[in-house]
This record gives sequence, structure tokens and C-alpha cells, in this order.
Amino acid sequence: MSIQPLPFEIKDFVKKSESLRMQYRYLDLRSTQMQYNLRLRSQLVIKMREYLCNTHGFVDVETPTLFKRTPGGAKEFVVPSREPGRFYSLPQSPQQFKQLLMVAGIDRYFQLARCYRDESSKPDRQPEFTQVDIEMSFVEQSDIMTLVEGLLQSSWPLDKHPLSTPFQTITYETAMRNYGVDKPDTRFNMKLMDISHVLQSTEIQFLKSALNQTEGSIQAICVPNGAKHFECKDLEMLKQVAKTQFGQELSTVLVKADGTLKSALRKLLSIPATEKLLTSTGAKPGDLLLISASTLDTVRPLLGKLRLRCAELLESCGIPVRNPSLFHFLWVVDFPLFLPKDDDPWQLESAHHPFTAPVPDDRHLLYSQPHKVRGQHYDLVLNGCEIGGGSIRIHKASEQLYILQNILKEDPSLLSHLLEALDSGAPPHGGIALGLDRLVSIMVGAPSIRDVIAFPKSFRGYDLMSQAPEYVSEEDLRPYHISVTWPAARNEGGGGEEVNRRIMT
Ligand code: ASP
Repeated sequence: MSIQPLPFEIKDFVKKSESLRMQYRYLDLRSTQMQYNLRLRSQLVIKMREYLCNTHGFVDVETPTLFKRTPGGAKEFVVPSREPGRFYSLPQSPQQFKQLLMVAGIDRYFQLARCYRDESSKPDRQPEFTQVDIEMSFVEQSDIMTLVEGLLQSSWPLDKHPLSTPFQTITYETAMRNYGVDKPDTRFNMKLMDISHVLQSTEIQFLKSALNQTEGSIQAICVPNGAKHFECKDLEMLKQVAKTQFGQELSTVLVKADGTLKSALRKLLSIPATEKLLTSTGAKPGDLLLISASTLDTVRPLLGKLRLRCAELLESCGIPVRNPSLFHFLWVVDFPLFLPKDDDPWQLESAHHPFTAPVPDDRHLLYSQPHKVRGQHYDLVLNGCEIGGGSIRIHKASEQLYILQNILKEDPSLLSHLLEALDSGAPPHGGIALGLDRLVSIMVGAPSIRDVIAFPKSFRGYDLMSQAPEYVSEEDLRPYHISVTWPAARNEGGGGEEVNRRIMT
């Protein structure tokens, strides 16, 4: 019996804010749903361990969490040391260690690995999260894919729709062309269509100028029953997304019950062009066409985003689009090895990470046209979420050095230990990591990964129960040769932060 009144009743129908739930997590965990989530997670992990270690000869190896910075990839947390100016980094994944283990002759490695990424600005991410981390020697891409399919099938909860394997595989190019994203939700159609040929001779200014650009294209998606169900404010919201997030115009074309169009484009389209538009997109009375035009690298992601927004809008009108009890696994392969950096498009960065090997047929392009090289990189997507990714690795020191130095412009001395190891007889190897939190959250239909983590951090990375991260006194910081420079706002505002922190999730 409780000796004090509890801050909320432990009844599933009693609504609590997420911050209150996190502040009293030990009470929140008593709920039926949280008990189910944590127990399902535990069962899943037991079966995975059994499959990997008992049936397939994997060795469970723990790797350090105090390490040094890895070039490329996510931002890492640093940990002070007692040596002036020297810091550890918390590893964003055990990537280097698992490759070193292959050099060490542990030819099948597995670990439930805690990873750390300082990415608090991204939604539904946790600064610390768990990966099912796997690496194997003497393998090809298809071996890893088959292993993971078997792993998921054998550990899949019995109360869920059983999985059938092999999972569907599509290339990155097809994913971008059909869905406008590299992690498509394939539970529904509404694919992107290139309608440049339909409007080839258009005089409509924004369409015409897009077609005049290199890689310029006019693209559309057809939203079944969109004209019937969407309101003006919905169409306005879609246009706002196009404008604010992509700087693009979006044209909406509603096909009325009598087959005529309601659209700003109506008067600008000839009758044959209208007919061609409707037949080539398959739009029927009641449907909505969304049309945008720009270079492919802009128009595809834009319509990819709107495709998802439209699915949500239709569902909010009670039209079923995505079956929540279905699990659509999908492999995406043949990614480019490098992508232009967001903040400096002339500079390349790794699409996956700097250790990914090129597709053998493209290897020669590394030295002339690196942006055209495909990587031996594969992502596993579940219902539109990336739940895993991996690659076949570079196992030759000279190739790794060339990529770091000449293409990524990274300081290779940070990785001298790995380069040296590769030079000491490294077997060909490859692996993958599955994001356990996200996988479980999709399995149980949880809205956030926080619902499958016993003690999660808030959106901003705070532990709302214990108030971590905590201030450390100057005296305690002295051994680390660190002093804190307080932002002006704190000096002026006094102790407001503690209070604010409680409500920031
Ligand atoms: N270490 C990679 C990651 O965390 C996964 C891998 O390539 O195996 O994404």
C-alpha cells in the first residue's frame, strides 16, 4: 500500500502528460501497456540471442563505451578525462570494434550495444539507444540479408502476424523514383509519377522553367478520394509544407464528380492536355492530383513527404490507408556511396559511414567520379521507418586511406589503429545493426520509442525523473581542467532553468 497519495492513478484510461509519466517513471511502468512492451522486448531479445549464439555460432562480445572520436557521421558526446585537454567520446556505434574483431578472428560477432549520439534536435531520437549489432567475416550482402530475415522470423512475437521471407528488395533509385524517400512506406500505393512528357509543351511558367533545368521534372501524386475528403485548409497546409520546407509551388487539381477539374491550372490547360493528364495519372472523379516541378532532388522528396501527409489526412477522415497490424519489411540497396554535404554541396560525405565498400563494378569510379559510385550498403525498412542498416566493409587499408583522405577530407590519423589492423590481414567482412528500440516500438504500435525504453530521456535529452544532466560544482570540475562559461541569459534570469526543465519534453 502507498503511504502517500500517488501523483496519478495507475489506470490505463487516466490520461497523463508524457512529462508527468517520465517524472514518475517507476509508477508509469506499472501500466498494462508498459508492462507488455517491456516483457515483449525481453522475450524478443532472448530469442535473438538464442538464434544468433546457439543456432548460428555468434559470439557475444562487449565493446567499450569510452572511446575516441570517429570521423564522419553523427555528433558524439565527449567525456572529460583528468589529462588537460583530452576527452573520450561515447561511441555512436561499435563500428570500429566490430571490424577489429573480424581482424581478431571472432568471425561472427553479436552484441546488444548501447550507442550514443548527440542529436537531440531530431524528433523521436534518444541520445542513448540500443542496437542489435552484427558482423561476419567472409560474407556478401545477400548472406547478411538472409541471416537478418531468419533472425526476425525466428524471434517474431507469436501474437503478431507471422513474417514471410525473403523480404522485398528495391534499389535506392527505385525508392526515390516511386516514393521520393529512401525508406518508403510500402503499405500503400500513391506512387510518384513523372508527368513531364504530358506537359512537355506547356506555357505555364513555373512548369516550363522547371523543365528547362538540368534534371528538371514535373511530378505528380494521385490521392484517391482526396478531392472528396480534403478541405480547403488541408490543401492549404500541403501548399505550406511545399513552400516553407522545400521553397516550391504546389498545384492542386481536384477531379470533380462530373470529371471536370477544380484548379488554378484548369484555364491554362488545353482540353487534350487535361485528358492526357487524367489518363496518364489514372485520376478518377473524387481524386486529387498534387503537382510540383523542380529538379529531381527537390521535387521527389517534396512529393514523398506530401504522400505521407496525405495518408495521414485520409486516415484522419476515417479512410483506412495503412493497416496497422501489417508489417512490411523492405530492403533498400544500391545506395550512392557518397552524397553531397547539406551545407557544402561541393564536398562529399558518406551516405552510410566511411567504412562502406564500393560496389565492385563501380570501384574504378572512386578515382574519377566518386559521386557516381554505389556502395555495398543495405537498409532495412519497416512500415516506412529505417530500422537497420549495414554494409560490406572496405578491408584494404590503402582503399580506406584513399577514401578518408581524398574523398571525405578527413584526418586519417584518427583512424590509424584501424588502418594498421586492416594491413595486418583482414578478412572480407560485413555486418548490420538493427535499432532495437524502434523495431519494438513498431511491433507494439507505440507512438514513440520512449514507450519501449524503461527509463528514457525527454525530447531534449533530459531525465525528468532525476533531473540529469546535473550541474557540477567548480570544485568537482577542477580535476578535469574544465571551467564553465555561463550563457548571459542564465546570469540574468536566475534559477528559472530548473523549473523550465521539468516541463520541457
Ligand atoms: N554501425 C552502423 C550504424 O550504426 C551499422 C553497420 O554498418 O553495421 O549504422
